[in-house]
Amino acid sequence: MSFCTKCHAFACGDLHILRCPSQQRSVRISPHSDRRAPAPEPDPEPAAFTMEHVPSEATSPIILAENLTKVYAAGRLQVTAVRGVSLSIEPGEFVAIVGPSGSGKSTLFYLLGGLTRATSGRVVIDGVDFASLSDGERTRLRKHRIGFVFQKFNLLPTLSAMGNIEIAWAVSGRKEPLDLKYLDHLSDLLSIQGRLQHRPSELSGGEQQRVAIARALITRPAIVLADEPTGNLDTKNSEAVLAMLLRSNRELGQTTLMITHNPEAASIAGRILHMRDGEIVREEKGSRPDAALPANAVPASTSAPTEV
Ligand code: ADP
Repeated sequence: MSFCTKCHAFACGDLHILRCPSQQRSVRISPHSDRRAPAPEPDPEPAAFTMEHVPSEATSPIILAENLTKVYAAGRLQVTAVRGVSLSIEPGEFVAIVGPSGSGKSTLFYLLGGLTRATSGRVVIDGVDFASLSDGERTRLRKHRIGFVFQKFNLLPTLSAMGNIEIAWAVSGRKEPLDLKYLDHLSDLLSIQGRLQHRPSELSGGEQQRVAIARALITRPAIVLADEPTGNLDTKNSEAVLAMLLRSNRELGQTTLMITHNPEAASIAGRILHMRDGEIVREEKGSRPDAALPANAVPASTSAPTEV
């Protein structure tokens, strides 16, 4: 077991390699290590690290949460949004987390995506414990391993669809040029060919969400986290977006975790976790885990926007 004092990574020989730029060498990261690095120094000059899988016979969870709790301070009150949640998601799974408003879904999403810190418990993403990383390292892990899809699409309005995808590639810090063949493949998969030169305001909501999915997928993240991806869409566009998420999960192999309050949307997943009052209270199989993609799921790209 060794420990890099500069990049704060413990190494004990299993599954993953984190290339440590400070020492010009690779160190192995254990997905099971519960040792913590000392409080990391702020990153004055974030070094680019890359993470690689080491082929392994054993499957281990790509997302692991152990006893996660998040307490918000709301004035003099404390709100426990997530209480003692443990879950384990295997590579390639499509999992939905469903629950009523206020049940803690978004907070869990932020915790699993490394967008907020847990009050207690831990999140291990692809073998790396978020708590062992500095803020800069956590950001880089997110950029390299996780693609986010949000309810409100979050596309930059002054850029074309193509510009939005290109900028996601640029901020991911990769040195190689955007893989145009892969972009072609994604555009085909998501049926947004012919729409790439348009600005978001010229696209229907369903098209905007599919561009947002392309933006999330362009960096080939291992994990896609989608927060209410159909929340702003009408039924037809919702079906199309769900079909695209399912197809990308199957064809590109991304592990997909979708938060939704809509049980029908959740049913597309292979596994459904039900949340209530900050806890996962029930787990069930999706009713359509192997369903065929809905016929005519993708509305014609020229169709008029119909969503609210
Ligand atoms: P959901 O996504 O299921 O609607 P949330 O995770 O948004 O649930 O919220 C869970 C609980 O935490 C709610 O009671 C909500 O009011 C509270 N909450 C969420 N964010 C904050 C915050 N930043 N400050 C205080 N309370 C919050």
